[in-house]
Amino acid sequence: MRVVIVGAGTFGASLAWHLAGRGDDVVLVDQFEPGDTRATSGGETRLIRCSHGADADFTAMARRARTLWRELEAESGADLMKECGVSWFAHSEDGWELESERVLTDLGIPTQRLSLDEAAELFPSLGVDDLAWVLHEPEAGVVRAQRAVQTLAAQAAARGARVIRSRATPDAGTVRLDDGTVLEADRIVWSCGGWLAHLFADHVELRVTRQELIFFDGGPAWADAPGWVDYDRAAYGTGDVDALGVKVATDAEGPPLDPDAELPPASDEGERSARRYAADRFPALAQAPLKESKTCRYELSADSRFIAAPHPEHPSVWIVGGGSGHGFKHGPAMAERIANAWDGGEPLPVRFALGKRERGTSLRSAGSN
Ligand SMILES: Cc1cc2nc3c(=O)[nH]c(=O)nc-3n(C[C@H](O)[C@H](O)[C@H](O)COP(=O)(O)OP(=O)(O)OC[C@H]3O[C@@H](n4cnc5c(N)ncnc54)[C@H](O)[C@@H]3O)c2cc1C
Repeated sequence: MRVVIVGAGTFGASLAWHLAGRGDDVVLVDQFEPGDTRATSGGETRLIRCSHGADADFTAMARRARTLWRELEAESGADLMKECGVSWFAHSEDGWELESERVLTDLGIPTQRLSLDEAAELFPSLGVDDLAWVLHEPEAGVVRAQRAVQTLAAQAAARGARVIRSRATPDAGTVRLDDGTVLEADRIVWSCGGWLAHLFADHVELRVTRQELIFFDGGPAWADAPGWVDYDRAAYGTGDVDALGVKVATDAEGPPLDPDAELPPASDEGERSARRYAADRFPALAQAPLKESKTCRYELSADSRFIAAPHPEHPSVWIVGGGSGHGFKHGPAMAERIANAWDGGEPLPVRFALGKRERGTSLRSAGSN
C-alpha cells in the first residue's frame, strides 16, 4: 500500500515506522525536522503512565505503547525511556486514583498502594498534609520525547520510508507540497497536531493553547525521583531527568495560541504558581534556583480523547491527532491500532470520530482546571 503521512510528531512518525516495517511504501512529510520544538512532540520529556481512571481502553493502550517503545529502543539502540515510576497523589480514598488502581489490577499492570510515609521515601522532600494515599506505578516513567520522535523517523527511513521536508496543503484527496508537487496514495494521513484545527476546520474541533513548564535546580537528590501527577490539583512533573531540572507544571488549560505563532517565554506568574505548588508538595524546591522555564502547545479536544477517522468526503484520507496534553506516550500503539483497523481488524472507537465532542472526564493529568 502507498501511504503519505503529513506530520512527523508522535502520531505520524509512529505510523510511518509501523507501516514501513510491514512493507508499505511510505512517504513522511513535515514542515520541520522531526523533533522540532515548535511541534508538540518536540519537548525533551513526556510522562508515560498507564493510569487513566476507569478508562480500560486507554490504560491498555498505554501499556502496549510501553512495549513498542522498548522495541524501538532495541531496534535503534537509543535510550528512550527512564523507568523511574510515576506516583499519583490521591486526595481522597475514592476517585480517579482508586478507579485507576482497579483497572490496572484487572489488566495485570504492576501497581503499588503507598502509605504517605512510604511515598515520602521516594522523593527528597514531599508534603503530604492534603493527601490520603499514593498510587505508584513502578513501571511507568518518562519518555525522552524529542529523541523518541527523531528515532521513530530515522527508523522509519531505515525501514524504507522516504522523509521529506515541506509544508503541505490538502487538495481534494491529494497532498500538495509547497514546491507544487502533488502526492497521491492509497491512504493519506494528516497527523498535524495543532495545525489540524486550521487545515480541517470543518471537521476538527481543537483548542490550541499555551502551556508553561518550570524547571528547578533541586540538586542531584532529584535525579532518580519518580514522575508524579496531582490529578485533583491539575499539576504534574518529573524528577531531574538528564539534568534538565525538576519539572513542575500546571496542567490547567492555558490561553489560546495559534499553531504558527512563536512560542513565547514563560510568564513570571508561571514561576510563582509553580513555587506556590512546590511550597505545599515539595517544600525543598520552593526556594530552589530556577533552572529553565518555557512554553509549549496543547491541542485539546473537548473530551481529551484522540482523533483517528476518515475524512467524510475522501475516505482514503485520514485525520489523526487531538493528543490533548497526553498523547505522546500512545503514539506507537495508536499507529498499530490504525493499521489494524485499515486491515479489517478491530475498528477504531467511535469516540475517535471527527466533529464536535462533549466535555468528558479528563484523561490528561488535570482532573479540573
Ligand atoms: C508541555 C507538554 C507536556 C505534555 N506532557 C505529556 C506527557 O507527560 N505525556 C504524554 O503522553 N503526552 C504529553 N503531552 C502531549 C503530547 O506531547 C502530544 O499529545 C503529542 O506530542 C501530539 O503529537 P502530534 O503528533 O499529534 O502533534 P505534533 O507533535 O505537533 O506533530 C505534528 C507535526 O505536523 C507538522 N505539520 C503540521 N502542519 C503541517 C503541514 N501543513 N505540512 C507539513 N507538516 C505539518 C508539524 O510541523 C509537526 O511536526 C504534552 C504536551 C505538552 C505541550
